[in-house]
Amino acid sequence: MLKQPISFEPTGRLQKLPPYLFAEIDKKKRELIAKGKDVIDLGVGDPDIPTADFIIEALSAAARNPRNHRYALDQGMPEFRHAIRDWFQHRFGVKLDPDKEILPLIGSKEGIGHLPLAVLNPGNVCLIPDPGYPVYRSGTLFAEGIPYTMPLLEKNRYFPDLDAIPADILKNAKLMFLNYPNNPTSQVADKAFFEKAVAFAHKHRILIAHDAAYSEMTFDGFKSPSILEIPGAKEVAVELFSLSKTYSMTGWRVGFAVGNAQVIALLAKVKSNLDSGIFQAIQIAGMTALQEGQKTLEQNLKIYQERRDLLVQGLRDLGWKIEAPKGTFYVWIPVPAGYTSAELALKFLEELNIVVTPGNGFGPNGEGYFRISLTMAESRIMEALDRIKKSHPHHSKL
Ligand SMILES: *Cc1c(COP(=O)(O)O)cnc(C)c1O
Repeated sequence: MLKQPISFEPTGRLQKLPPYLFAEIDKKKRELIAKGKDVIDLGVGDPDIPTADFIIEALSAAARNPRNHRYALDQGMPEFRHAIRDWFQHRFGVKLDPDKEILPLIGSKEGIGHLPLAVLNPGNVCLIPDPGYPVYRSGTLFAEGIPYTMPLLEKNRYFPDLDAIPADILKNAKLMFLNYPNNPTSQVADKAFFEKAVAFAHKHRILIAHDAAYSEMTFDGFKSPSILEIPGAKEVAVELFSLSKTYSMTGWRVGFAVGNAQVIALLAKVKSNLDSGIFQAIQIAGMTALQEGQKTLEQNLKIYQERRDLLVQGLRDLGWKIEAPKGTFYVWIPVPAGYTSAELALKFLEELNIVVTPGNGFGPNGEGYFRISLTMAESRIMEALDRIKKSHPHHSKL
């Protein structure tokens, strides 16, 4: 026993992380469930649809092969990288070199978190969308980079105003995160936006990391382009893909980075010092998903689209003015006048036993909005609509 116990305090790096704003909601939710309340969780961004059987079968078979029990190659199995190359060529018409331009990841979050360590020196600026996926900021802070917020405003259709970024920031900026289809706003981007972004990156000599975690989660015939379809993009961009949402494989931890060969090599160098690749059986299952998953993906998209239509129509019938999102499985909704995001989320939870995500949890510019996730069965969405309707029969206030 030490006479004077050591106190392990959070490092400056950890102290710089923004506070976790969902803690109060999480706690309340657990309390209500413990009290036996029927809580409808429309907060989680995690598919409720299970992984398809053929992917599980591929995993099981591969797990039984002792060849797959050993350390995987840091750069991923050649078979998996070839499958990614073929999928990418077929999906986007873009050719990738599987040895230099493709790097499997332990989920795209891992790549997003590690990329700043590979490309930022301390004090370099990283441009971050706000509201946005929190890992852009934490990854930047861990690398001792300086996050600079690009507001995604409704009046700009949730695109960053690149021309509004001050020159002195741009001088020091080395990296910019973008994310379309976007979490949490559910906005999708067309090629014209990526053309603008690539031209901007060329002009200011900035690396773009495009988070394409929802690349396949689109509706109404909209196909999300790859930033690498833009001529010259490979000089300034990498793109991060994930099998998580696409094939209902969040728990499996598998995704990949593609694009600029130098940056891919730098990221691979960071990773080879921190992890030792993805379990090969999961790589084989991931390969199977990319090769044979199209039908399953389309079936799942149909389910999400039906849920989306049900929710959007239901809320419209109650007097809410919302658009049907063309991408992701989220609906981003303005908070009615008189509430903050947190107040509305708390009201929904306490009075209706419905969990929604307050927008300010994704950054200050998410204030005034909340996010509903379509990862619940239609019957639960209907029940949620019913509760909203009953609590506000005149639907004038809410
Ligand atoms: C879910 C999500 C990710 C992470 O996905 P994984 O591949 O499971 O790590 C990355 N970016 C955004 C915007 C997400 O919503």
